[in-house]
Amino acid sequence: MEKHILSKSTFLRGLQCHKSLYLYKNFIQLRDTPSAEQQAIFSRGNRVGVLAQKLFPGGIDATPTKKNNYIAAVEKTQFLINSGAEIIYEAAFQYNQVLAILDVLVKKEGKWYAYEVKSSIKISHIYVMDASLQYWVITNSGLAIEDISLITLSSKYIKKGDLNLHELFAITSVLKDVAKNQDAITDQANILIELASTAEMPDVPIGEHCFTPYNCDFMGNCWKNVPHNSVFEITGLSKAEQFALYSSGVRTIDEIPAKNNLDKNVNIHLATSKKFDVHIQKEALKKFVDELTYPLCFMDFESFMPAVPLYEGTKPYQHIPFQYSIHVQESASSTTKHLEFLAEQGFDPRIDFIDNLLEHLKEASTILVYDALMERNILNGLKKDFPEKSEGIDFVLSKLKDLMQVFQERIYYHPLMKNSHSIKSVLPALVPELGYETLKISSGSIAMIAFEKLQTETDMFRAMETREHLLEYCKLDTLAMVKLLEVLKRSI
Ligand code: SF4
Repeated sequence: MEKHILSKSTFLRGLQCHKSLYLYKNFIQLRDTPSAEQQAIFSRGNRVGVLAQKLFPGGIDATPTKKNNYIAAVEKTQFLINSGAEIIYEAAFQYNQVLAILDVLVKKEGKWYAYEVKSSIKISHIYVMDASLQYWVITNSGLAIEDISLITLSSKYIKKGDLNLHELFAITSVLKDVAKNQDAITDQANILIELASTAEMPDVPIGEHCFTPYNCDFMGNCWKNVPHNSVFEITGLSKAEQFALYSSGVRTIDEIPAKNNLDKNVNIHLATSKKFDVHIQKEALKKFVDELTYPLCFMDFESFMPAVPLYEGTKPYQHIPFQYSIHVQESASSTTKHLEFLAEQGFDPRIDFIDNLLEHLKEASTILVYDALMERNILNGLKKDFPEKSEGIDFVLSKLKDLMQVFQERIYYHPLMKNSHSIKSVLPALVPELGYETLKISSGSIAMIAFEKLQTETDMFRAMETREHLLEYCKLDTLAMVKLLEVLKRSI
């Protein structure tokens, strides 16, 4: 058997972009380093895959003993099938130099059933293409498949006691769509096999395909000549609008003509960046500030979303709050004091979270948050899960006010915000001396990963270090709001 030319992942890569497949095959060293978020998604997929195998207990793993020896994996799978195995994990097949490794292969009443595990709740087009390729390879290599299904996490599952795998996972047959895709897979496989062996790099310009269905990992290479201050830095524009400008020759924000069809916010950005001036609606800003009452609390939550529910009464990917930071200002002229909470690892954090929060906020008059949607959703979720805490939670909800509104409604706009109202864009524009760059945990998604990892951390010192980094990060989120409000007040 010849070594494979395409695997499932290189096939899907080639479907997204021919150049990406070429670069992967010939210049893999140009690939971007995966981010912490991407690595976490990858290991979550592996964990969910191993758990889903338990739906079919007693299977034999066809993974080769020597890493990446796929020919051995294909031979082992064939041997297992021939010797009467009925459940095979990581079953490997090859056809026409395309390799496919299936999560679970099961024989029932003499017929073979294929299962591919995905750690998400929804079935996407790319998952169906993935299953279509698996089916194409397996059936063409000589094994008839009665049905092929995707195993996903069920959004309806609520944990009660021990995990019930048959309720946690949803099994959906995709055979109908997979069968329809077979001719297209044959055509694409022929094109991509030829492309994978070509010596000439396909000439593919950057485009919306760089982000669909996944962010390409060669952007560091292909996008290196996109100029600083390019139209892609205007965050409020859709990708289609950005590329329409870019391909019409308008590369940088400064090159956008004064007369254009872009929305009001983009034009505020253009006007302020040309003069490098700040746009302030003083009346509206004064009204916002005058409505703040004291004690004023600046509050921020951190939450994580375990794919497989860890706690009683929770669903897959439910937001579980585990940390908050509060800066309290007793009066307009007083300094702030800091309060915080970070749940202990290994326990359901929600009750301690809400009890501490209600205690810390019992005197609050206005509670200022940045992007109230997340805090509101978490508080409403807690109210549903712990109805006995409703009164206290309703008190907190009634006091919430959103600082983001000032920036989102362009009551205050600084050109360095680049048409974004995210705190990660607003803070460096208004308070450049305060930044997240030096922090070990520098975003909400990294905080999520860190807390999830803490649940299984056995090294006490590493756990303590992570907890310190989490506290430092969340504290900066509320300190940032304190400093932003100081700048706003000085501008009135
Ligand atoms: S960055 Fe875009 S153009 Fe370059 S390889 Fe990736 S998808 Fe293709």
